[in-house]
Amino acid sequence: MELFSVIAEHDHEQVVFCHEPSCGYKGIIAIHNTVLGPALGGTRYWNYNNDQEAFVDALRLARGMTYKASVAGLNLGGGKSVIVGDPKRTNREEIFRAHGRFVETLKGRYITAEDVGTSVDDMEFVAMETESVAGRAQASGDPSPVTAYGTYRGIKAAAMAKYGSDSLSGKTVTVQGVGHVGYYLCQNLASEGARLVVTDIDQERVQRVVHDFGATAVGTDEIYGVEADIYAPSALGATVNDDTLPVLKVDIVAGAANNVLAEARHGDELHRRGILYAPDYVINAGGLINVYGELHGWASERAMRKAGDIYNTLLRIFELSENEGVPTYVAADRIAEQRISAVGKIQQTWV
Ligand code: NAD
Repeated sequence: MELFSVIAEHDHEQVVFCHEPSCGYKGIIAIHNTVLGPALGGTRYWNYNNDQEAFVDALRLARGMTYKASVAGLNLGGGKSVIVGDPKRTNREEIFRAHGRFVETLKGRYITAEDVGTSVDDMEFVAMETESVAGRAQASGDPSPVTAYGTYRGIKAAAMAKYGSDSLSGKTVTVQGVGHVGYYLCQNLASEGARLVVTDIDQERVQRVVHDFGATAVGTDEIYGVEADIYAPSALGATVNDDTLPVLKVDIVAGAANNVLAEARHGDELHRRGILYAPDYVINAGGLINVYGELHGWASERAMRKAGDIYNTLLRIFELSENEGVPTYVAADRIAEQRISAVGKIQQTWV
């Protein structure tokens, strides 16, 4: 693999390979772009099949963070790190302190947080070695209510664009996954009189939203075929794919899950069918906004307010998509790139 051509392909700034043989720590820190601010992105701990897979995953995830922060209007760049190994490893202190020391060598260019395979407790070890860590226990707390609120506001924006009114009263919303985010999302939707059809592999969680919000439960495979106004994927990625697209009977796809489109061409297909798609990284930015608020000492209401702005951001994306005749995920990328380019230009003035 030609490392530099892969790094150059999407304009990544820096990749750091980290090694601490005493404990078997192997990490990769990828910084995609720091025009808007320090690169922020979590640490993923994963048993990659090989080093190449870990490297490419770090680059891909870092780039995604650049776009997410830019569209959300945050002064953050995009970065991500991966640790190669068994995420179920029990003796974690040395691994995460080693990671923290390498993060510290970047002197604030990269700020980490938890991600798949890492926990709040792991971040406490990282924090013993660096201050460049967010999402800590006793800091901004569980991001899920903020993510859910941003998603709810995003669903309203999609309704506004599709129906000319953002009222969700009487609208049927299918919610796939009623975990941390899904539960609060149902709460927001129910408070406005939306009808909820939900599914989850965890029946206790299903029963909670049936009881608390009068939701109707369906099986995990049934959810795609339910005739509804809005489908809100809030569990897994890649649920808009070759199998589900033909059975989806909704006007809008807008939920909290990451990587909703199995492939970009599925976004093109939604566009072709006239199903309005709220790009995942735009609508689920509440978690990142919450972490940003933590770094800047915001009160929790301010993070909520900022997450509420997802409404206007999505309206701009839908408008661009309409005017230019491009799928919404393309419009979102363009808006992200425009902001980075514009801010990069004003920074050319020497002060
Ligand atoms: P969670 O683990 O608390 O909830 C996910 C739920 O989905 C669980 O209840 C799980 O049982 C259920 N689920 C798993 N497989 C399923 C299946 N096949 N069918 C139906 N349900 C299934 O996670 P969460 O924090 O609520 O996050 C939900 C989604 O939102 C994830 O994709 C996550 O990446 C994304 N997200 C979360 C945040 C946040 O603040 N937590 C921020 C941004 C994005």
